[in-house]
Formats: sequence, structure tokens, C-alpha cells
Amino acid sequence: MSKLLLIAYDPADGLQGAGFAQKLGLPFDLLCLTGVAPTDVGAERALSAGLDEVPPADALASGLSGVAGGYTHLAAVSAMRSKDVLARLAGLLDAAMVTDVIAIESPSVFKRPIVAGSIIATVEVLATPVVLTVRPAAFGTPNLGGASVAESVALAGSGTAKRLSISARGGARPDLTQAKVVVSGGRPLKDAATFESVIGGLADALGGAAGATRAAVDSGIAPNELQVGQTGKIVAPELYIAAGVSGSTQHMAGIKDSKLIVAINKDPDAPIFDNADLGLVADLYDAIPEIRAKLGR
Ligand SMILES: Cc1cc2nc3c(=O)[nH]c(=O)nc-3n(C[C@H](O)[C@H](O)[C@H](O)COP(=O)(O)OP(=O)(O)OC[C@H]3O[C@@H](n4cnc5c(N)ncnc54)[C@H](O)[C@@H]3O)c2cc1C
Repeated sequence: MSKLLLIAYDPADGLQGAGFAQKLGLPFDLLCLTGVAPTDVGAERALSAGLDEVPPADALASGLSGVAGGYTHLAAVSAMRSKDVLARLAGLLDAAMVTDVIAIESPSVFKRPIVAGSIIATVEVLATPVVLTVRPAAFGTPNLGGASVAESVALAGSGTAKRLSISARGGARPDLTQAKVVVSGGRPLKDAATFESVIGGLADALGGAAGATRAAVDSGIAPNELQVGQTGKIVAPELYIAAGVSGSTQHMAGIKDSKLIVAINKDPDAPIFDNADLGLVADLYDAIPEIRAKLGR
């Protein structure tokens, strides 16, 4: 019988993926790597691995391969961390993999964007197991209710890499891929200190995350992990504010699931205005302090 294992890094990740799991329509178990798996999302079993820290990708993939038996589908929310692990898991299981799923036609036919989102491919998987990463914004929030059986599960894997240290920038800001508000800045932010005070400051005032274009990252204005777009993170916030962002197809590929896109650009012909819900033709160094002053009031 077909069954899905939804793999989540933490409970919030599990809730995000559960919308997909419910739409797939197969019975599923939810495995939470850290924290306690939610029991009210319609999973048959809420499995908690109880890890304090997620191990490096090869060890985690090895551990997951040990619990993958019996599942025809294994899925996680699309993110850098899950793509790294699930690709290895697919290799270990000799399974087909479909990344960035945005729609389900049947348990073996999925839709995914290619060429920076300008083409939607329909992919049929001819064998099981199949490993999937899914874009949660495409599937909405799960229906809560019902009680799953809560169980602990041990992941015993071995890897060839050892994590020596881990560091995160951005302090207490929410994770970019899960934030309800994202404020992004582009090349005109000049340097890291300006980016942090102008973009970071507005993000903090709105309780959101800071993001950046690749041009800003390549110029050393913003850290690599803040890059949004085709080769960065895919975001889907309620509100996306792009300040000094031209609106390249590669950047737009990462933000098109945002509910409301607000662009601040001093060039009225900037391409971002073609895709923004609200546009402000203004110098960001005038507009953002003014917005912050109004928010303060
Ligand atoms: C294979 C490939 C993958 C890529 N992947 C990504 C990706 O994932 N993400 C990504 O972002 N890019 C990506 N890029 C790069 C992308 O093509 C663009 O070069 C990049 O997005 C441009 O960044 P930008 O908008 O910050 O810079 P620019 O194109 O330089 O635009 C700056 C904008 O700021 C405006 N501006 C200037 N000063 C001000 C001011 N004071 N106030 C208000 N507005 C101002 C200008 O009018 C302009 O529109 C990729 C490119 C390639 C080839």
C-alpha cells in the first residue's frame, strides 16, 4: 500500500509540509527531527527523532534510509538543507527524485517549475519509492484535527563528514523561508552596515526577515544565506518588500508566491514594477526612513 513519510526539521516545518501531505491523499507519518511532532495534522503516526542538533547531510540521509522501508513516498519542504539531504537519501534508496513540487496530479504525477519558473513541467514517476521536495506555499495550511499516535524513533546513521562548528547570522529574525514578512535589498545598499541598518532595520520593525539579491550578495553587501531567487531561497511571505531591486527573472523566481509584493525603486521603468502589487517610485534612502517613522507612530 502507498504511504508517505513526511520529514520535518522541526514542528513548524512539519506544519508547513502537512498541507502537501493532506493534498497527496495518501496515509502518512510525520517524522520530526527536532522537537515534538504535531499530532493534529492528520498523520497516522507522529514520529519524533528527538535530536538536539540535526547531523550533517550524509549522516542524516543514512539515518533516514534506515526508517524509509515501507514508504512509497518520502517528502520534505523545499529548502537548501532538505535538498542536500533528500538527494543523498534518493541515492541511497535508488529512488527517483522530484524537487520543488507545486502541484499534484496523482501520487505519481507532479508539477514543478523549471527555467526560473517560466515553464511548469509535469513529471511522471514510474517506480517507487519516490523522494520529493515540495513548496509549501502551493499547498496552503493543513487542516488541523484528529489525533495521531505519538512515537519516538531512533535514527542510527553514519556519515563521513563531521560538523566542527555552526554559526548563524541574523540574530533573532525569523527564518527567511518561513517569515510572514520579508524585506529585501539590492545592489544600491552600498555596504554591509548600510544593508543591516536600512533593510535589517525595516525587517525588525515589521517583525520580518531580511533578504537580498544576488548582486547584493556578490558585492559583499549581504551574507550568502540571505539570497532570494532562482539560486537562493524561495520565499512565500504575506508581504514582500523589495527596495532597490531591479526585478530580474532570477530574483522574481524566488518571490512569486508572495501574497503582496511592494517595490521601492527610483527608476519608474524598473521591471519589478511589472510584477509588484504596490509600487513606490522613490529613493529608498528617503522612503524607508519615512516608513519607519510612520511605523513608529
Ligand atoms: C544563473 C543566474 C542565477 C541568478 N540567480 C539569482 C538569484 O537567485 N537571485 C537574484 O536576486 N539574482 C540572481 N541572479 C542575478 C540577476 O540576474 C540580477 O543580476 C540581480 O538580481 C540584480 O540584483 P539587483 O536588483 O540588486 O541589482 P541591479 O540590477 O543593479 O538593480 C538595482 C536596482 O536598484 C534601483 N536603485 C538604485 N538606487 C536606488 C535607490 N537609491 N533607491 C531605490 N532604488 C534604487 C535601480 O533603479 C535598479 O532597478 C542570477 C543570475 C544568473 C545569470
